Amino acid sequence: MSYQVRENLFISNINHAAEILQNGTVPPHNITHILSVLSSASISFFTEWRSTLSISVNQISQLHVSDLPTAAKSALSPDKLIYSLEYAGKDLKLVRMAVPLKDTESENLLDHLEVCIDFIDRSRKEGSVLVHCFAGVSRSASVITAYLMKSENLSLEDALESLRQSCEFVCPNDGFLEQLKMFEEMGFKVDHSSPVYKRFRLKTLGENHQSGLRIDSSKLGEDPGMPSETSSEVEGATKVENNRSPTYRCKKCRRIVALQEHVIDHIPGEGETSFGWHKWRSGNPFNKSNESECSSIFIEPLRWMKDVEEGALEGKLSCAHCDARLGYFNWAGIQCSCGSWITPAFQLHKSRVDISPV
Ligand SMILES: [Zn+2]
Ligand SMILES: [Zn+2]
Repeated sequence: MSYQVRENLFISNINHAAEILQNGTVPPHNITHILSVLSSASISFFTEWRSTLSISVNQISQLHVSDLPTAAKSALSPDKLIYSLEYAGKDLKLVRMAVPLKDTESENLLDHLEVCIDFIDRSRKEGSVLVHCFAGVSRSASVITAYLMKSENLSLEDALESLRQSCEFVCPNDGFLEQLKMFEEMGFKVDHSSPVYKRFRLKTLGENHQSGLRIDSSKLGEDPGMPSETSSEVEGATKVENNRSPTYRCKKCRRIVALQEHVIDHIPGEGETSFGWHKWRSGNPFNKSNESECSSIFIEPLRWMKDVEEGALEGKLSCAHCDARLGYFNWAGIQCSCGSWITPAFQLHKSRVDISPV
């Protein structure tokens, strides 16, 4: 069975979703849209009810579901397909979006939230949407909680409590709860420039590295010392000059090695807790008290860090232009001079870089 959360919004487990896909929907629910949040293996379990039309995530964001057949024709190659959006069910009358997500604490829920929320929002305007996962307890509940937070401006606690009124046994796993808290801290959006998101991304990278996943250049941040793909070198330079936020350059050759947006702040002297989401508070790394305590800045891994790309656990960070030593990296963490442990750590010694404007 399914549980009604709001008008035109339902939650269920996989059995109820399969029933609808197999036999069609029945009044009074009249489901028109299904959001499946399942591991990749379980998504393919549904193939027999699937149409062959599927499209990429970039297209989903611009798409009105009534445009589906046309959009599906211009689908990108399958390896770029993260989500599938398709006509499904007995008479292919249902629109189904499938999101691959495992119910584990380390799984990245955050990066899927906006596309899910958007799908629920549009589906409710066109009909009724059923959000389901395997048990209807953790993944689907997390997605609906985020939707309620955003659409009704509720705190995580209030949204979850409200969802429990409809379905008492919902229980997002602890990792998802932590990410939903970050979603709240970022103002109900996934803000990639937010320190909250940057810390999360670095933590995820660290976990990927620990589990033996290769960290290739696609997972590293863009090299600010190289002209970006979209603008010429001259424009790139102008952009940096006009930007009042600090730029970090190699002291020896002046090559740009990092921008302020790559810096991951920590609170001086707070040890491991500086990476706890709930204890984090905003700190300006350029105020005097911090300056005197920390001899290093920590940044996200960037594409000029060749040893990182080659898979080393730790090593030197050297300037890509003049090879001067700028700092050190260690996936297992480095202790800053202030006492804080940063894990994983990509460290630039302040004595080896110039900060401009000062
Ligand atoms: Zn420090
Ligand atoms: Zn240099």
